[in-house]
Amino acid sequence: MDDLFALDAPFERVSVLLPLPLDAAYDYKADPAWGLGRGAVVEVPLGKRRLIGVVLGPGGDDVPDERLRGVLRAYDVPPLPAAVLDLVDWVASWTLAPRGSVLRMAVSSPGALEPPPASHVLTAVPQAAWPEGTRMTPARRRALAALDGPALEPKDLAREAAIGPAVIKSMLESGLLERHALTPSPPFQPPDPDRAGHALTGEQADAAAALRRSVADRAFSVTALDGVTGSGKTEVYFEAIAAALSAGRQALVLLPEIALSAQWLERFADRFGTAPAVWHSELKPKVRRETWRAVAEGTARVLVGARSALFLPFAELGLIVVDEEHEPAYKQEDGVAYQARDMAVVRARLEGVPVALVSATPSLETLENVRGGRYRALHLAARPGVAELPTVELIDLRRDRPERGRFLAPALVRAVERTLADGEQVLLFLNRRGYAPLTLCRGCGHRLECPNCTAWLVEHRLLGRLQCHHCGFSGRMPRVCPSCEAEDSFVASGPGVERLAEEVLSRFPEARFQIASSDTILGPEQAGEFVRAVNAREIDVIVGTQIVAKGHHFPWLTLVGVVDADLGLAGGDLRAGERTYQMLHQVAGRAGRAERPGRVLLQTHVPENPVMAALAAGDRDRFLEYEAEQRRAAGMPPFGRLAGLVVSAPDPERADAAARAIARAAPRLEGVTVLGPAPAPLALLRGRHRRRLLVKARKEINLQRVLRDWLTPIRLENAVRLAIDVDPYSFM
Ligand code: ADP
Ligand code: ZN
Repeated sequence: MDDLFALDAPFERVSVLLPLPLDAAYDYKADPAWGLGRGAVVEVPLGKRRLIGVVLGPGGDDVPDERLRGVLRAYDVPPLPAAVLDLVDWVASWTLAPRGSVLRMAVSSPGALEPPPASHVLTAVPQAAWPEGTRMTPARRRALAALDGPALEPKDLAREAAIGPAVIKSMLESGLLERHALTPSPPFQPPDPDRAGHALTGEQADAAAALRRSVADRAFSVTALDGVTGSGKTEVYFEAIAAALSAGRQALVLLPEIALSAQWLERFADRFGTAPAVWHSELKPKVRRETWRAVAEGTARVLVGARSALFLPFAELGLIVVDEEHEPAYKQEDGVAYQARDMAVVRARLEGVPVALVSATPSLETLENVRGGRYRALHLAARPGVAELPTVELIDLRRDRPERGRFLAPALVRAVERTLADGEQVLLFLNRRGYAPLTLCRGCGHRLECPNCTAWLVEHRLLGRLQCHHCGFSGRMPRVCPSCEAEDSFVASGPGVERLAEEVLSRFPEARFQIASSDTILGPEQAGEFVRAVNAREIDVIVGTQIVAKGHHFPWLTLVGVVDADLGLAGGDLRAGERTYQMLHQVAGRAGRAERPGRVLLQTHVPENPVMAALAAGDRDRFLEYEAEQRRAAGMPPFGRLAGLVVSAPDPERADAAARAIARAAPRLEGVTVLGPAPAPLALLRGRHRRRLLVKARKEINLQRVLRDWLTPIRLENAVRLAIDVDPYSFM
């Protein structure tokens, strides 16, 4: 077998971590001439497979020589930087995920490791140098004629001479054409830090100077850049990026939803004269490969990406920016459950570089770190120019009710009418995809539920389907009720954006509207087109979900109507209030970002709720104090620690038995409380039955150690899975 090649002594032993759900590294032997140091990327055999692995260091001596297999090859890429390897260890020990699973996120682009395909151009060989007896054909003649000028790439030659690849191949073989390798052009133009940005306002200039200094310090620091929506936070951190570029370092910017950030990319290009490198899960393999390499080799100077960009092998990182740091999207729920904002701080520390956490509504975690003096805060209090913060008013749905089957209260309808009459734009915000969140039988009340999940099916009328937003189940509306057998008896209950759009159409028939949700805006291109259409005033009313809540800057948008402000408050989630506040504040920030003042109307059943009261009063800090007080009293994060354990199995009996066994083994420690097991709110998900335990600990307790000591000895049946979520954000 080729992979068992016997290396002639001497060989060295290397310890190789594989991107599999394993903690341990394996030893392999390798030719010392290859010089495989820490971080080297190699290919190794495992069973019958060939896998990518990363050398962690010298191997041990517990496996006899004859049982040791050899490294198959070393990839021609820079070794993974120490900071990445340390980050892998750090994330693994924080999240309790196997090291190999974390490594997988750092080498998730296997193709990146292959050398880029060499490209070349062709020239004609002078006739004098042709071999004896060369045959000439019309096709060959056309090829030679086409090459009577500059050299051509094969595909261009084929087009110009109207010939196929076979002709080119035979001409190369017969010595009529010559190949010349091209050095590949760098795919990423260097951004120019010296182009002028906006003239900064006083407070912007102060904040920018502080950030520039932290970049120049080349030392770890955390800065919370806390400024009201539209105050120029992006402009300010662009200055920090410029400072990193001028100092010859790379910069990483994390955005919560990079696929939808067309406007951000445009602004970057305006400021720096070229697009940044981009990283997200939807990249085409070729671009992914080029980007990974360019980051590792240092030819990509600025990269903007989703949370997975945190594991890229930057050659000379000088700055990390986490924009919208409060966003729940930074928490990965599947696989390795990590919080990218927190791990960005870890990476910055490992790299010895500054990190900026940017938000108009910072998380309580960040604010608590500012209060404790661990993070520095920079504040931007005003919008530059004439733009004022919008006024926020509450509509009490208990008094000002929409008509039956309608969802817009009279006061909101009047405001929309006035705004449209003034030729300005309206955003109606409803964070619910589809037509209706619930479909029930008029006869017997039967509700249509997902067969695989504890969840109602959501009607998507545009698609003519019912969908489960948890598992992707999709089906047609049944004609007959499965419970009472009544025909055509199903009715929609509650609004989604599609149903709201129906109301817009009937109330404001002249208005041009568009639904903006993840069902209608499918990628960066469509997002870009949407933004263009809004700015060109081809749309009067946007009916949108949270995908329009952040980042966008629409100068003609002056009215935001939040159709159901209470939506996020239900469910008893630890952060429900905080999240609702953040989201509504973000949405409100879309209004009145240019000369015309903005107005925000929130429809609510609970105007006295602290979230609503704070939004109406524009008093963020009072809300945050209230929220912090509640959390402190309950010992909840950021004042205490939490971990979620979810046990799942194909049947309820096994799920219950395993959850009880885990609970029985729970430690009895001062300052540690174990709650549950109880059926998870999503008790059935993708066909698996789920039970939850919640572990609460005082802040000074090493929660990871408690969990490790408790859970490592527990053996579960094959069909049973245990998912551990340290610092959970989802309680479903
Ligand atoms: P934030 O990130 O705080 O929401 P942005 O950086 O997006 O704010 O700025 C909001 C808008 O104001 C953008 O269109 C931006 O170009 C503009 N802007 C910011 N600062 C200035 C300035 N100093 N002069 C002119 N326009 C500015
Ligand atoms: Zn489902």
